[in-house]
Amino acid sequence: MEIKTVINPFENALKNFDMAADVIHLEDNIRNHIRLPERELTVNFPVRLDNGNVISVTGYRVQHSTARGPGKGGVRFHPDVNIDEVRALAAWMTWKCAVVGIPFGGAKGGVVIDPKKMSMSELERVTRRYTSEIAFMIGPDKDIPAPDVYTNSQTMAWMMDTYSMISGRTVLGVVTGKPISIGGSQGRNEATARGTVFTIEKAAKKLGIKLNGASVVVQGFGNAGSIAARLMFDLGAKIIAVSDSKGGIYYPKGMNPTEVSIHKELTGSVLGFKDSEKISNTEILELPCDILIPAALENVITEDNAGQIHARIIAEAANGPVIPEADAILHDRGVFVIPDILANAGGVTVSYFEWVQDNYSFFWKTMDINKYLKEVMDESFDNVMAITEKHKVNTRIGAYATAVAKVAEAIRLRGVFP
Ligand code: GLU
Repeated sequence: MEIKTVINPFENALKNFDMAADVIHLEDNIRNHIRLPERELTVNFPVRLDNGNVISVTGYRVQHSTARGPGKGGVRFHPDVNIDEVRALAAWMTWKCAVVGIPFGGAKGGVVIDPKKMSMSELERVTRRYTSEIAFMIGPDKDIPAPDVYTNSQTMAWMMDTYSMISGRTVLGVVTGKPISIGGSQGRNEATARGTVFTIEKAAKKLGIKLNGASVVVQGFGNAGSIAARLMFDLGAKIIAVSDSKGGIYYPKGMNPTEVSIHKELTGSVLGFKDSEKISNTEILELPCDILIPAALENVITEDNAGQIHARIIAEAANGPVIPEADAILHDRGVFVIPDILANAGGVTVSYFEWVQDNYSFFWKTMDINKYLKEVMDESFDNVMAITEKHKVNTRIGAYATAVAKVAEAIRLRGVFP
């Protein structure tokens, strides 16, 4: 019998943090403080199903750090959500916001449900009850949720409405990633993918890779993955393989991601697209290609398959797809990794723009959003590369070192209460 070791994402987040803390010679008192989340909440609540039965649902909200500003981070609906995953995701938000220099700390939420098995009205009841359970902990100047895996702008509309009903006034800035008509921002839906593609352009330029004609593999065809595929296609790249939770398709001639999205919309999966060849979610990662975009969940590249990765660039649209042991192997093999806390920071960056627009009740044009996003991503990429090269570390530790130094500086300046 094969014994599968469970990979704990929070332990992995701590390993990377510790390596970065060593590199910047972080003092022990700050190190011990920011290793662990500031505040964690577990909630258990009943939800009535459409058939009248009542089930018990568990949810979490973790605030990892509020040293640089209010907590910020998405809410994930997934049957495998657990406290260590939410802790890791919250810590990654802290580092992500620091890497791109936006004035937020890091937080994350999760609800243990299988959203694919629930109706819209059941999802609405889960969302509203979860929001009411965590309401005392969130707020536009406390902690601002957003979409993540299997949550979207409709989920955010329900969260905003529930919080507003409790508060007795409409509070647009309590969540980001809302529909445009109720305080959402232009460009937010595409922002994660757009940010990833800006970092790919920078990395390709650095490595002398031409994106026109470059081969691209995308693991995960959700919001980030499907839009990243389309943006890469628009730059002339060849999308040779994509996958979703049901499996992957290989189409060496290069597919049009918009057609794949339509196929998925109609059939529920990318599988069966035209005369594509079916491949597994593991095989897809090992295909020879110029750019590999993991855009699904954590822990997909480990020490077991890192030696078989043939991409020249890995751009992490997902959070935590590569574990620390795999980083070392990829680094030795010359694979250029654009780490998650940089590569997917476009989402939270435009969330910040949304929050600013909500607070000012003044909304910007798409053109301006995308221009500011590009400025933030390009500058952050350059900063991370400078630190990476200065300390002669891999790009992930370079990104962590950049972020941890900023959070540590905030803690030092604020001092200790009381
Ligand atoms: N869930 C996204 C992330 O992991 C976005 C978070 C946000 O916009 O607050 O970065």
